[in-house]
Amino acid sequence: MSKTLLQLNYLTKKYGSLTAVNMLSLTLTRGKVYGLLGPNGSGKSTTLGMVLNVVNPTSGSFEWYEGSLTTHQALKKIGAIIERPNFYPYMTALQNLTLICKIKQCSTDNIEDQLKLVNLWDRKNSKFSTFSLGMKQRLAIAAALVNNPDLLILDEPTNGLDPEGIHQIRKLILTIAAQGTTILLASHLLDEVEKVCSDVIVLKNGVKYYEGPVKELTQTYGYFEIAAENKKQLLSFLETYSALGEIIEENGIFQVVATKELSSIELSKDLQKAKIVIIHFTKKQPSLESQFLSITQTQKHAST
Ligand code: ADP
Ligand code: MG
Repeated sequence: MSKTLLQLNYLTKKYGSLTAVNMLSLTLTRGKVYGLLGPNGSGKSTTLGMVLNVVNPTSGSFEWYEGSLTTHQALKKIGAIIERPNFYPYMTALQNLTLICKIKQCSTDNIEDQLKLVNLWDRKNSKFSTFSLGMKQRLAIAAALVNNPDLLILDEPTNGLDPEGIHQIRKLILTIAAQGTTILLASHLLDEVEKVCSDVIVLKNGVKYYEGPVKELTQTYGYFEIAAENKKQLLSFLETYSALGEIIEENGIFQVVATKELSSIELSKDLQKAKIVIIHFTKKQPSLESQFLSITQTQKHAST
């Protein structure tokens, strides 16, 4: 059983002069939940389209299962939802899934479990046309799971849903991941990726800017906001303090990042020792959003 499910090597897609996906390399390993995170137009859907054989790459390559399977063979072991769910409106949930099993040439034994998993078993005999968008999306997830895929690919699965629907889908993704299915989730929503994924690939203009655990993207030593009566005295203290880095002044308040573990107590004690009269002092954590912005704004291509 190969540990690597999918590998991309400098995968590139150009539409005329526009490079939608630019030299993208990455590796998907079994058991993880990957977030493909980037603003609209960053190349997420194009990337998914290429590995699912619906978009032709311009250059570069990808391989499934360490090259032991052709893409055609591999896709039988993958479940993907890349478009709005489309089923026969006049057929019931159960009838639709039975048809999907015929098309996928897999057994129908799984249908009951999957309908229960997505919380639609009670509605198995309702026509698809009577379903809410959230229910349709959940049925699509059940359909993607009927062949017990190794990897579930979801492209913006919560788009257009109400908060309740969004919550249900996110909970469902976590349940599916807990059962051991590897997931690749494309999303433009930072908090979605933060809530659901173990690993993240950040894309912007088709270029990969970050790849790694979500935790590493969110874990920082934080920063302090400090103001003193005597600004000069405070500045020279901060400049020479070893656990502190870059200092920015805003409205008379110094914002200074910690470069290693540093508690508020430790720093305020040292300020006291230096006899600096403090008029403002707080410790803050940057949000994932500001981390994300600083990654996509200041870094050049992340090395692979
Ligand atoms: P995302 O899914 O991250 O929103 P897409 O992969 O859909 O991004 O699109 C990436 C870029 O490629 C966008 O600039 C988009 O306009 C362009 N693009 C996507 N599909 C086509 C197409 N069939 N023809 C021309 N340009 C396209
Ligand atoms: Mg898209």
